[in-house]
This record gives sequence, C-alpha cells and structure tokens, in this order.
Amino acid sequence: MNRIVSYIKSLFLLELLAGLWLTAKYFVKPKYTMQYPMEKIPKSNRFRGLHALRRYANGEERCIACKLCEAVCPALAITIDSEPRADGQRRTTRYDIDLFKCIFCGFCEESCPVDSIVETDIHEYHFEKRGENILTKQKLLALGDRYEAEIAKSREQDAAFR
Ligand code: SF4
Ligand code: SF4
Repeated sequence: MNRIVSYIKSLFLLELLAGLWLTAKYFVKPKYTMQYPMEKIPKSNRFRGLHALRRYANGEERCIACKLCEAVCPALAITIDSEPRADGQRRTTRYDIDLFKCIFCGFCEESCPVDSIVETDIHEYHFEKRGENILTKQKLLALGDRYEAEIAKSREQDAAFR
C-alpha cells in the first residue's frame, strides 16, 4: 500500500507542489529581516556581554578581592592581584579580563558574593590595537560607573529567578 501511495505522489509531483506552495506562502508574508544597526531586537536581561565592576552608592568598590571569579573562570581569563589597604580592607590592585580568552559563560558573575563583577548587555565593541582585548580594573570600573543604572535594572528584573 505504501509503495502505491509513494508511486502516486511521485507521478503527480505532490511533494514538489507542496514545497512550491510553502515557498509561495512565505513569499507574500511580512518579512522579519532586521535592518541592523538601525533596527535592534530586544535583549534579555540575562544577556552576557562586556563585563563591568560595580561600586556601592557611596562610591566604594564592591569587590573584596576574594578571587572566587578568578578560580571559577573556565577559560582562565581573569587575573587578580590584591593587597590590604591602609584601613585593613583587602582590595584588588589588578583585575584584568582577557576578552580573547573569555567565553562569556557568566560563571564569574554568578560566583561573586557581592554583585561586583557583572556582564552588561553591551555587545558592540571592537579592538584596534594590540592589548585592547584586556579589560583592566580601571576600564571595568569605568564601565560599571557609566552603566550602573542599566545594570541595576537588569538585576532587579532577574532577582526573582536567582
Ligand atoms: S564570563 Fe566566563 S569565561 Fe568570561 S571571564 Fe567570566 S567566568 Fe571567565
Ligand atoms: S569580583 Fe566578586 S568574586 Fe571576583 S574577586 Fe571581586 S568580590 Fe570576589
């Protein structure tokens, strides 16, 4: 029976006609091509883009140099040096992220006990010179300062799922 059905389908080109019908149907449907960069699709608040280091509202760095992010990073992309400050608190003296190594897994963000290292939704960046792939502590803090409002909003939206 199956062979007969298959023979009839082949004889009348039914599968070909079904394919042509599908093509014709999508030919007249509205197109979903985004005209990037003029048009952009909405991004999830969990999007993992460029990193940033955050501060508390009083300007104090959140990072306490516990090095959990460095330990958990599967790509060995984070390098941290630290020492005690004059007031006895431990702080980083070096915090580098090598973006050539980073795989944007988000483990650093998840491991941080003080919400210091985070991944922003910034995905449009480029390097022009050798070495620009290293995000230094100064660059990371500057990113955190600049995008704090967006970072705080994303984390608030995601708080119920953490
Ligand atoms: S996102 Fe993943 S790979 Fe990139 S620095 Fe963080 S832990 Fe390492
Ligand atoms: S960013 Fe967070 S996890 Fe990494 S060293 Fe600082 S406090 Fe620890």
